[in-house]
Amino acid sequence: MITGPGLLFVVSGPSGAGKDTLVAALRGRRPSLRYSVSATTREPRPEEQAGEHYFFVSRQEFGRLRDGGGLLESREYNGNLYGTPRDYIERSLTEGYDVIMKPEVNGALAIRAAFPDAVLIFVVPDRFSNLRERLLARRTETNEEIARRLEIATREMKFIRQFDYIVVNEQDRLEQAVRDLEAILQAERFRIHRYPDDSIRRVESS
Ligand code: 5GP
Repeated sequence: MITGPGLLFVVSGPSGAGKDTLVAALRGRRPSLRYSVSATTREPRPEEQAGEHYFFVSRQEFGRLRDGGGLLESREYNGNLYGTPRDYIERSLTEGYDVIMKPEVNGALAIRAAFPDAVLIFVVPDRFSNLRERLLARRTETNEEIARRLEIATREMKFIRQFDYIVVNEQDRLEQAVRDLEAILQAERFRIHRYPDDSIRRVESS
């Protein structure tokens, strides 16, 4: 009966907290949810597909995109550039689709500055030591890279209070974390201020 514009969900938290798996599982359950694919200068990992996991671009292409205003935000993370394409998000929200994305923590806060209505969700592992285990288990980074990611993670944890929600991704309990994330999406959808005033007026006078 009432519809509103799409909502923007920003899932962030330290590398290794499991946000990739979590968001992938959520998307499996909510096919209408649109995913914002970032641009990066990082080399693709063996299982990664261009255009699906990232738009893999050169530093030069990235610079052109950013300087032309094509990115909502961009960050250097561990020696590589990452950025959020503007058009896809703006178009999807206007068309009424909910969008999910998973930038690192500073990117999440920059997105909030651009979209004050965005919902910021911080994913943490149940124990900080699990971060290291997860990064080791995925075997895509060298030991040096893992050490750097853990250093960044320690800094990222300090931003937690600027987020709206926290989801604890417990070891071996992915299902629970996906359900928690879904509950957040569901609840946000029902908030009165999310709806255009004329929609609410129609309800009031019905
Ligand atoms: P990874 O190399 O593991 O795919 O990503 C490294 C970090 O960059 C992760 O924390 C990931 O969430 C973040 N990231 C991915 N895309 C973006 C983006 O568009 N903007 C920002 N700020 N961070 C991103």
